[in-house]
Amino acid sequence: MTEEMLECHECSAVCEKVLYPAACLSMDCRFLYSFQEDGRTYFGCIQKVFPHEIDLKRFQDIERTKGGFGVVKVSRQPLPHCSVAVQSCYQTEEGPLCRNLYFKRRDRREVQTVED
Ligand code: SF4
Ligand code: SF4
Repeated sequence: MTEEMLECHECSAVCEKVLYPAACLSMDCRFLYSFQEDGRTYFGCIQKVFPHEIDLKRFQDIERTKGGFGVVKVSRQPLPHCSVAVQSCYQTEEGPLCRNLYFKRRDRREVQTVED
């Protein structure tokens, strides 16, 4: 199986794969795990597609806000059912010039513009 690139630095922008943990919960993925510590519940991904263990209560509180919890960085090869997007930080006008067609095909999420 061809390994999917998790980051691209082919131009002066920085683009990386990110994942929506809300989708993991809504699909009740079999690779989710949870544990309790100090009275709080945390969840994570056994496959470590995202490396973090997320506080469930804080996650739910943020999910109820306008922007929702959003995304976390992908740290390992996602599985086909993972809800992955591309997050781009453009410095200038690299977007239309993007030469990485695989990244271009992904749902692109521009979250930040870095000005000089
Ligand atoms: S395998 Fe993918 S969908 Fe399942 S918990 Fe991990 S990141 Fe989420
Ligand atoms: S804009 Fe395109 S070529 Fe540049 S880093 Fe992002 S995906 Fe790669």
